[in-house]
Amino acid sequence: MATLDFYLKDTWSRTLNIISESPTIPKEVFDTYYATSTLEKLEKDEALVVVENFISFSILKNASGMLEAALESQLGTHVPIRFIQQSELEQEKIAVSDSIIQNEYICSIINPNYTFSNFVTGKSNAQAHLASLTVASNLGLIYNPLFIYGNSGLGKTHLLNAIGNYVHTNFPNRKVGFISGLDFVEGVSKSIKNKTIEEFKNSFKELDLLLVDDIQFIAGKEKTHEVFFTVFNELVNNRKQICITADRTPSEIKGLEERIISRFNQGLNVNIEAPEYETSINILKSKISNNTTISQTIDDEVLSYIATNFSQDVRSLEGAIKRLLFYAINWGPADEDHITLSLAVEAFKDQVSENRDSLSIIKIRKVVCDYYNLTKAQITSATRTKNIATARHIAMYLCRKLLDAPYKEIGNEFGKRDHSTVINACEKVEQLIKKDSSYLKAISEIESKIN
Ligand code: ADP
Ligand code: MG
Repeated sequence: MATLDFYLKDTWSRTLNIISESPTIPKEVFDTYYATSTLEKLEKDEALVVVENFISFSILKNASGMLEAALESQLGTHVPIRFIQQSELEQEKIAVSDSIIQNEYICSIINPNYTFSNFVTGKSNAQAHLASLTVASNLGLIYNPLFIYGNSGLGKTHLLNAIGNYVHTNFPNRKVGFISGLDFVEGVSKSIKNKTIEEFKNSFKELDLLLVDDIQFIAGKEKTHEVFFTVFNELVNNRKQICITADRTPSEIKGLEERIISRFNQGLNVNIEAPEYETSINILKSKISNNTTISQTIDDEVLSYIATNFSQDVRSLEGAIKRLLFYAINWGPADEDHITLSLAVEAFKDQVSENRDSLSIIKIRKVVCDYYNLTKAQITSATRTKNIATARHIAMYLCRKLLDAPYKEIGNEFGKRDHSTVINACEKVEQLIKKDSSYLKAISEIESKIN
């Protein structure tokens, strides 16, 4: 299914889901008249909804206020709905297709959920973020094409849509088109079959900004290369902006023609990496604060636990929050208004392997606390009382030794201490071990408990 079709279907089904909850609409009425409607087109100033017949037309039109509000909750912006009966739509389509060349593969509606304002930045994505913003505010002027690459789930599609949304908002006259590599391949093959390849190519000409997601899918497709090369040159030569994403650098995409690789290298290539610990924490906080359905507070150590175990990519961080909430709602204690670490450990016990679990900073901290009979509050406190400070130093040392965790990350888990404190602690412990064998003995006992 082309991306646009999917987007329309998904948006409408979420909108209807909200309506179906309404106590004023009996289920039978909903199933017969509402559920059979479809969203045919979504533009900035009009959503076109197709209904089966005159009765559904009257019923939905009467409920248009409610439907528009539900649609607004999905899009984040108000779009008036126009209702049309199936039979009228057919006539409208004939009239349109006579006058305009249509390309159903180019999507002009950008996903409104992916914006710059909800993109959390950190070291791992700072370059890609800055380059995207620069391009969005200076179309065709600076980096052309902008090529963003990185592993799956790191925010490439999000940034591409953020560029589109930025342009929609700030330069409403500029035409934006979004196409995935897969849809491009399908578009070329269908147009060749239908003998409409010239129309397919021409429909890109009118764009000011072309966003191509996951270009790696055109690799090895000779005819697609040829068409893409023409479309690309036409736009760039006319100073129209192109932004592309892929899961690897242009040169690493096997089966991509040299001339295309060299065009891609003419612009700017930027990488997105897996979020580091601190960025992961910020992403988690942002996702939680943007989610209005979360009523519980989530303990900081839970965020730390998720960041330590699921930060290979952002999609996994998002998945972890969903899993945690699902678990907390269904199996958590009913009277708790906050989600604790022990609940989180329980929720993820199938996903976080024993090995990784045992090797988290939090786990090491816990074992050291047990060993010295201290509480978490004591070990993370500012106190310099000798036995507590020593336990804290040993725990930090072990996090470094066993996990090779960054100093900063370790410091965060021990009362937000800075990295130089952790370095000092590690050095102190090394000296202690040399001077006094009882420390060595204690540390090896703790290590064996950890393992
Ligand atoms: P990719 O295209 O690289 O596979 P996506 O752009 O689809 O990844 O991102 C996967 C999910 O992670 C999306 O829901 C996206 O909103 C979210 N995401 C990725 N990076 C960030 C970020 N820096 N801030 C907020 N959300 C992000
Ligand atoms: Mg993507």
